[in-house]
Amino acid sequence: MLTLSPFRLRPWFRTRIWGVQNLAPWYDYKVGDEPIGEVWLSGDDCIVDNGPLAGQKFSAVFDQHREALLGPEYADAERFPLLMKVLFPKEKLSVQVHPGDAMAREHGEQHGKTECWYALEAEPGAAVALGLRPGATREEVQAAIQSNALEELLQWVPVRKGDMIFVDAGTVHAIGPGVVLLETQQNSDMTYRLYDYGRPRELHLEEGLKAVRLQTDAGKVEPRTNGKKTLLVQSSYFRVDRYALSATNVAEEFSLHKQNGSEFGGVQLIFVASGSGALQSKGEAPIPLRRGDLAVVPACVTDWSMVSTEPMEILRVLPQ
Ligand SMILES: [Zn+2]
Repeated sequence: MLTLSPFRLRPWFRTRIWGVQNLAPWYDYKVGDEPIGEVWLSGDDCIVDNGPLAGQKFSAVFDQHREALLGPEYADAERFPLLMKVLFPKEKLSVQVHPGDAMAREHGEQHGKTECWYALEAEPGAAVALGLRPGATREEVQAAIQSNALEELLQWVPVRKGDMIFVDAGTVHAIGPGVVLLETQQNSDMTYRLYDYGRPRELHLEEGLKAVRLQTDAGKVEPRTNGKKTLLVQSSYFRVDRYALSATNVAEEFSLHKQNGSEFGGVQLIFVASGSGALQSKGEAPIPLRRGDLAVVPACVTDWSMVSTEPMEILRVLPQ
């Protein structure tokens, strides 16, 4: 039962009114009439791209191989714990807020949504809105929404390439144009839109205002580098590390089992931020990976490594 090999997931391209017409150099995808704003990397509907499970939906792999994929501690999980996306905003995204776990459960969902953004690209002047200005009250937020002035109550934070930004549930937030972000979030559908710059999409004011916390822990996270590995963020839901793989044909060990000595290492999500190479595991064909690809290494896989054919930057995401 515990036999599952690493696999690459095929990205799922989602149309968004704030998106772009061209995803180069990240994805070789022909955008139709409607712009693409989100590329889902680990969505329930993403398709396995290689190996014995090729053609299956990620949700089906989760349903049939939960323990091999995630380890025994996730036996009662209803869905894969994390959703990863690449965001391509050409215009501002709506100002929104996600509920925490407690409020989500009141609405019949298992999880709220805490998330983080890693800046894969950032143009000069790019910024995100993270939380309310100090001292702002709930009444002021409500009044600002009604007078179309919510943007002025938000703290705008400049973004540079390589920044990691933590956005905990309850933080009012928005993403501006000029960035490409790798988003890692709790796999939850719960988003309340508070303000949309006059665009005709639905708002969720009552629930949204309830979900807003006036003060949160959101902000840029200081990276901690130790050799080739940099810890970008650690929260109760996810941990993200960045690895710099040097020169050509250098194999790097990512085995969690070797690091913590336990039988189960937990699932690992491997995203290629630059360069290209292959993921190798014992007895399996190498899985080629290039910029923008996501590979899933199931918890039951004990022995694997990355082989770079050129310098690579890899982000490894672990559910916590
Ligand atoms: Zn969000």
